[in-house]
Amino acid sequence: MIIILKPDVRSGSEQLQQLLAIAARYPGVTAQVREITGATRTLTEVYLIGSTTVVPTEPFEEFEIVERVVRVSERYRMIGRHRGQVEAVGFQYQGLTFDQESLHVAPGLCAVDTLDNVETMFRALRDVGVATTRMGAYKPRTSPYDFQGLGRECLPWVFELAGKHGIKVIAMEVTHESHIEEINTALDSTGSATGVMLQIGTRNAQNFELLKFVGQQQRFPVLFKRGMGITLEESLNACEYVACEGNTKIVLCLRGMKTNWGDPHRNFVDFAHVPVVKRLTRLPVCIDPSHSVGRKELAPDGLTDIHHATAQGIIAGANMVLVDFHPRPAEALCDGPQALLVEDLKPYLEDVMLVRECYLKRKAALANPAKAA
Ligand code: PEP
Ligand code: MN
Repeated sequence: MIIILKPDVRSGSEQLQQLLAIAARYPGVTAQVREITGATRTLTEVYLIGSTTVVPTEPFEEFEIVERVVRVSERYRMIGRHRGQVEAVGFQYQGLTFDQESLHVAPGLCAVDTLDNVETMFRALRDVGVATTRMGAYKPRTSPYDFQGLGRECLPWVFELAGKHGIKVIAMEVTHESHIEEINTALDSTGSATGVMLQIGTRNAQNFELLKFVGQQQRFPVLFKRGMGITLEESLNACEYVACEGNTKIVLCLRGMKTNWGDPHRNFVDFAHVPVVKRLTRLPVCIDPSHSVGRKELAPDGLTDIHHATAQGIIAGANMVLVDFHPRPAEALCDGPQALLVEDLKPYLEDVMLVRECYLKRKAALANPAKAA
């Protein structure tokens, strides 16, 4: 059950404390208070979790501060877009807004390798005014003999260089809870020179203990990559694991599905699910054209498959793009064949903005919010 409070009622309100006291009377029911900064207003919502079927709505509806009480039958209690919830949940991190309206492009190295390559990438990003990137330090690889990432050793210099070049957020995969501690320590030692979005890779999409762990911390938002061989519903339930532990700062990333039907692409591109995820949940949606397509061959029209896939995601309303670049792809220790060149960065961003403009124009021309509500 979700109790939506009137706009601008904050979590410190006296009536809210009385309401929580009533909720506490029901055995097996726990309450979580959540403040949401939407596009037009700030909302406070109270989530009653547990055996709520026997809990009546009336005692809560009587409070003056309550706008509406919604009984949630769907499975995604925390991340779902339930009846009456029109505000897109978003979050602020490092001065940036991540929600279902915004767009951030995070170009960067699949894996941190040399200081020179990392600095070249950061400098290129600064030159084009981009403050979000990707950099893997812990790499889950199919073969144990492949490069596994530089791990915690590289963190201090990566964070320091990021700060020096104005990078605000680095998407970085973690595969174990100890990695979060290592990132915490390294960030502290650099005076929080930058920010980190903890990436849960597709291979850990159902590592429930890891999901709970990233859900229990509040310092970092989570970039959850859809499981490559599970249903969308299963991936959304995985995000719910993170959210119900307390961290609702989640971005869901589509990265293609594992099936030979997608050949010759590395994965079958699933960006038609951008609007589906936006309808089912209030999470911002990211696309990863690099890991979806896995190669950067040119089509006869002169555009690479990665450019084409990016455009498909943007025109569908994507809110973030995670994309591999490398100054010297031939020397990259991970996923070189799908990395675009640093000199491709400016035209790539121009292309993204062209398609984004088209999406916004289509939205303005066709969307009818009254119908959608
Ligand atoms: C990555 O983004 O570096 C990565 C390994 O992606 P995925 O988990 O989607 O395969
Ligand atoms: Mn990769």
